[in-house]
Amino acid sequence: MATRTQDLDAALRRHFGHRSFRPGQREAIEPLLEGRDVLLVMPTGAGKSLIYQLAAQLLPGVTLVVSPLLALMKDQVDAVEERGMEVGVVDSTLTESQSESQLHDVESGTTKLLYVTPERFDNAEFMEGMRGVDVSLFVVDEAHCISQWGHSFRPAYLGLAAARAALGSPTTLALTATASPWVREEIVQRLEMRRPAVMSRGADRPNLFLEAVRVERESDDLKVLERMFAGEDLAGYGDDLARDLAGAMEGSGIVYTATTRAARETAEWLQARGVEADYYHGQRRKSDRTRVQDAFLSGELRVVVATNAFGMGVDKPDVRFVVHRDVPASLEAYYQEAGRAGRDGGFARCTLIFRPGDIGRAAFLGAGGELTADEAERAARALRELRECTLTQLSEHSGVGRADVARLIAILEGQGIARERRGRVRLLRDDFDPAAIPLEEEEHRRSYERSRLEMMRGYADTGECRRAFILGYFAEELPGGHCTMCDNDTRGAAARERAAEAADAPANGTDAADGLTAGRRVRHEAWGEGTIHRMGDGAITVLFESEGYKTLDIGLVRDRGLLTPVDD
Ligand SMILES: [Zn+2]
Repeated sequence: MATRTQDLDAALRRHFGHRSFRPGQREAIEPLLEGRDVLLVMPTGAGKSLIYQLAAQLLPGVTLVVSPLLALMKDQVDAVEERGMEVGVVDSTLTESQSESQLHDVESGTTKLLYVTPERFDNAEFMEGMRGVDVSLFVVDEAHCISQWGHSFRPAYLGLAAARAALGSPTTLALTATASPWVREEIVQRLEMRRPAVMSRGADRPNLFLEAVRVERESDDLKVLERMFAGEDLAGYGDDLARDLAGAMEGSGIVYTATTRAARETAEWLQARGVEADYYHGQRRKSDRTRVQDAFLSGELRVVVATNAFGMGVDKPDVRFVVHRDVPASLEAYYQEAGRAGRDGGFARCTLIFRPGDIGRAAFLGAGGELTADEAERAARALRELRECTLTQLSEHSGVGRADVARLIAILEGQGIARERRGRVRLLRDDFDPAAIPLEEEEHRRSYERSRLEMMRGYADTGECRRAFILGYFAEELPGGHCTMCDNDTRGAAARERAAEAADAPANGTDAADGLTAGRRVRHEAWGEGTIHRMGDGAITVLFESEGYKTLDIGLVRDRGLLTPVDD
């Protein structure tokens, strides 16, 4: 191992000019070089790409990197080329001869690192060209796009397991910045990874100040926003913190809204108050979107008001605040969006403005209604008649809503019955019973979405440390259970004292007397096995494999022995 360690250090110096690895990098590279699959959860900006870029230089064959966005690939490729490494990109913008010459460089061994979009694997010529290529490492970036339950679901990701098998089942590295344990499990299953080493690194972002503001009426949230921009909402915070919070509002920022209309209206409202703002959502013209994004990245535009369509691939280090005017469908979605603030490590402010009645609206907007057995049967029969059609045609033909039709197709895709690409559906085989389409997964999805939403509500409502709440969700523990960078720990003298005490005296482990601590495996008589996600507010939250998240009263759990620790 000593030589391996020295080899890695030397390679790091030679190829990247760095003297030492950042936390987690070496730990991820070593198993990959030994041929073991790795699932790595690491925040953006923590050095994920170095892991496979370095591995690519040390492995005999080619490293293939699947990335969801051309913009992401372009940035990466530029950075790699600057270091003098040969790198290729195959995407839909290349002409056939360009694509061929890229593949030629790969075959001849000139290119060690090749970036592709997931849709490339549908291209027969590309797969043919890859036949003779020795792929050493298969990298899936933004791996959470494979989760059908996630808001960034990308259908082409479902084909990656088959693509990897066709390439000779190379060692696989799945990367994601944010994944709840549930999504982690889904990534491993859907990519068909073999006993992967699962590593979770640094969900904590200590420079993000976390706060939530509860409002009772819809019109009140604009008042909250107005007070934030005016620096009038800082009562109860100490002087230094108040100065930092007010300062953050003078920098670059993102305001997230649930609807496209709210995005436009909020931007106009801000402009009327002299704040330089514009809006961004999926329905704006592409040229407008590009203009807004470029102006924001270059610093010409201070504030972008946007739906969740904005942000993926937007790597701006000095975003000083992210305000949510609406509640995202899950805590991981929230943390991913809020986490676009403060990537340079400087102080940044993340504020969630919420009306209790609105929690669930985002999930409702995103998920549509409920697919019943009757609807599934009708839509499946319609598909058998049409054989090839668009989702909209199938919806019209069957009288089933478009969102429900899309959900049915996802189920049929999972069974190899149908296939959808960019809204066009094709029937692959018709030896199935339209009256017996399995909807367990659909029920599973609904209970999953409900429980995710409950965790989001828990975050909004908690009176305890918000940082500890989020870390608990990602199965990491905050030492001491309090911080100095959330509203609950810093607003009012008593809260400040409590946080300071916790910082001085780390947790003494009293909670662990009965074996119940965050991250621990436990069993419940009715719900089976699960993992403790969080303890606090007099309650204990457990993620059960079969039931999703359940929150139990801590006193009851202890008095009646409702949860028994399970040994791994
Ligand atoms: Zn805190």
